[in-house]
Amino acid sequence: MNNTKAYAAPSPTERLVPFSFSRRDVGPHDVGIEILYCGVCHSDIHQARDEWGGSIFPMVPGHEIVGRVTQTGGQVKKFKSGDLAGVGCFVDSCRVCDECRAGLEQYCANGMSATYNSYEQDKKTPTYGGYSTQVVVDENYVLKVSPKLSLPGVAPLLCAGITTYSPLRHWGVGPGHRVGVLGLGGLGHMAVKLAASFGAEVTMLSSSPAKEADAKRLGAQRFVLTSDPESVKSVSRYFDFIVDTVSARHDVETFLETLKTDGVYILVGLPSDPLAVPAFSLVPKRRSLVGSMIGGIAETQEMLDYCAEHQIVSDIELIKIQEINEAYERTIKGDVKYRFVIDIASLRDS
Ligand code: NAP
Ligand code: ZN
Ligand code: ZN
Repeated sequence: MNNTKAYAAPSPTERLVPFSFSRRDVGPHDVGIEILYCGVCHSDIHQARDEWGGSIFPMVPGHEIVGRVTQTGGQVKKFKSGDLAGVGCFVDSCRVCDECRAGLEQYCANGMSATYNSYEQDKKTPTYGGYSTQVVVDENYVLKVSPKLSLPGVAPLLCAGITTYSPLRHWGVGPGHRVGVLGLGGLGHMAVKLAASFGAEVTMLSSSPAKEADAKRLGAQRFVLTSDPESVKSVSRYFDFIVDTVSARHDVETFLETLKTDGVYILVGLPSDPLAVPAFSLVPKRRSLVGSMIGGIAETQEMLDYCAEHQIVSDIELIKIQEINEAYERTIKGDVKYRFVIDIASLRDS
């Protein structure tokens, strides 16, 4: 598949610029997808700016992909031309380790192939993401997308949706639980919507007073302004779960203290700096501090089906690819409601 148009970061310190490359030909097990929409995740920014280290350049970011199938290999069973399709944060994994066999491909012991800033399973062919016009992926790593939902709003489900759905399901969050969601951005707004739809009582913990009305519209029953000590005190030892989605260095101790005995602090945010966790915030209350990364293919499909059934999509601002650098700056400032999604038609037509 030649002439794939894209936007790429040439280096950690440069803006994203137009770029072109070739995708592999569609093999017997592959699906060729014309990309329609791609979400802009804060992980795109961390990696394009090499904030986690080890980034591979040039980098075509993007792992919240929705598109239409244009070609299928001879052995493909699940997709046909014209179907809607989704691609999330990884495009392959070893398929034989315990994690892959258990449907936890995101934790593949031999290293999954992330959708970009990574290598195919040959460990030498770089992967390029969804800020591009087309993609070729093995059918086992492609998701089915329902035509019932608005497609731009579906794209962020492929990362922000599954990253919050998976831990909420894993820890059995539901009716009778009090959940605090820290940070109202892409992940945070999906955590609020999903936890509320599972029947939990949700509190938004945000540093942005202007987001209160939105938090309540999204499903939060309470709003705590994290810069106001009195407001934070009102939820002392209150929560069964915290979902921490913050992308930058921040205070964890204060929010550990909002958990009850046996409360679980679920980290999904990935700031590059280590977090300070006092032993005395965990030990005397038997609290747990846990992490969670995206979700496996089967669970991602389950999440997409759940969202189609319950009419849940992401709240998005649709942008042209030419606006991507400005969108990065606005995301860093927390100025997005609540996910930028690129209309790939703006790239195809450029
Ligand atoms: P985002 O849209 O930028 O949202 C992050 C939110 O965190 C902001 O809206 C803001 O909310 C809050 N925040 C930002 N800087 C802060 C600071 N210095 N102090 C306190 N609060 C701050 O980002 P996202 O796309 O949701 O991603 C969030 C994090 O999750 C990133 O680190 C990303 O890499 C990571 N991530 C992890 C996974 C995974 O599998 N675990 C998957 C995807 C993304 P308020 O204005 O409400 O305070
Ligand atoms: Zn992401
Ligand atoms: Zn594996």
